[in-house]
Amino acid sequence: MIQSRPLSAVHTTMQITRRLEFDAGHRIPDHKSQCKHLHGHRYALEITLSGEIIRMDGCEANGMVMDFSDVKRIAQQHLVDEWDHAFLVYRGDVRVVEFLSSLEGHKTVVLEVVPTAENLAAIAFSRLDPVYRDTYGNHLRLERVRLYETPNCWADAVRSPAG
Ligand SMILES: [Zn+2]
Repeated sequence: MIQSRPLSAVHTTMQITRRLEFDAGHRIPDHKSQCKHLHGHRYALEITLSGEIIRMDGCEANGMVMDFSDVKRIAQQHLVDEWDHAFLVYRGDVRVVEFLSSLEGHKTVVLEVVPTAENLAAIAFSRLDPVYRDTYGNHLRLERVRLYETPNCWADAVRSPAG
């Protein structure tokens, strides 16, 4: 039997990332080009959490920062289920807000800001930050939300060093 050496005592922070995808419509009312049209994206959300690795024999999260399935479940519950297959519209985009509200039962999310990747990442960070709480005292916290509008374009909302 080969026994691995114990992990180094050097303190490192562990980060884990879970990716989720969802579909949503939007438009950027003042955009100079294509994004002023009503259209949609296959968005991807990457949620990065930091924390210590849980070391509790018999605990279902032993060896993990957080179970990836829990990272996903919490994001769906607090954000993604609301945005998936919705139209994300800026409150100030009055004609589109009126049009969408005329469609009975339409899944519309009215935002206080224009639905750019940057704003959506910032909203996602502020919504998800309070809901990732550690259960095992391992200093779990949300570090970053990366929101892909396309495979080539994304925005990062990153915890500031002071926060
Ligand atoms: Zn777009």
